Amino acid sequence: MTDIRHPAPAQRFSARAAVIGEDTRIVRALPHRERRTVGAWCFLDHLGPVQFAPGKGMHVGAHPHIGLQTFTWMIEGEVVHRDSLGNEQIVRPGQVNLMTAGRGIAHTEDSLLEGARLHAAQLWIALPEAQRRCAPAFANHPELPQVDTGGWRATVLAGSALGQTAPAQVYTPLVGLDLASTGPAQTTLALRPGFEYAAMVLRGAATVAGEALAPGEWLYFAPGRTALEARCDDAAQWLLLGGEPFAEDILIWWNLVARSQAELQAALDDWNAGRFAPVRAGSLAAPLPAPSLSGARVRASGQG
Ligand code: MN
Repeated sequence: MTDIRHPAPAQRFSARAAVIGEDTRIVRALPHRERRTVGAWCFLDHLGPVQFAPGKGMHVGAHPHIGLQTFTWMIEGEVVHRDSLGNEQIVRPGQVNLMTAGRGIAHTEDSLLEGARLHAAQLWIALPEAQRRCAPAFANHPELPQVDTGGWRATVLAGSALGQTAPAQVYTPLVGLDLASTGPAQTTLALRPGFEYAAMVLRGAATVAGEALAPGEWLYFAPGRTALEARCDDAAQWLLLGGEPFAEDILIWWNLVARSQAELQAALDDWNAGRFAPVRAGSLAAPLPAPSLSGARVRASGQG
């Protein structure tokens, strides 16, 4: 029940450590076994900030995606995206790479320079039934709207907030905001009561809706809130992601979002049989073999 006078208390979740590519450690907030999606946001990896050793970098070899959009928000460093549509695009700090997988795309991701710093958020957005088999597409968004509010610099990553609208094309009602400060900051953000939200700190520490938040943890806010106060005592950065609760049950497995095990298996078979279009050459990493689906427990997204 949505009751804007008495919003439900925030729920606190831990992110878990994971490894992507050859040896790039990240922190994964979504999916969480008790909270599979926030709006259509279905995946939230926080990478870094990391300083790679000389000669080292992030190299994720060719792999397929279906049924989702990958949304890369670059904070520090540069990553080169190459895909099966023939695109090659560097994503730089302050920019978003948005890849709409639809019925199927494959790509690679490599840090541009070895021995560099890297800090990014890698997000996925589940596509709704009407769009999930659309033709694949890719876009780089070099400039995003920014608004200064109470010492926070807010960048509108997706959807609309603070009177600004992000350029990324999305297919369900959602919002993404990055808020960064170089010192003490305090603001109250307007929320949509029909949206649920997640807050995750990327750097420093912040207090969101009265809850202290540090890297490695995130907060979930059920629908029903109209405002959120956010403050910090020193330099900090955090993400606010929200959206209308995603009405469809989804299966997430490896890099695929689908509705049935058979559909997942078909995509894995297509990948293993080389039926995806080849990715534009250039990655330093080998293609990723699909893990076996047999015997795996693939969980539906239903929140129960
Ligand atoms: Mn990918």
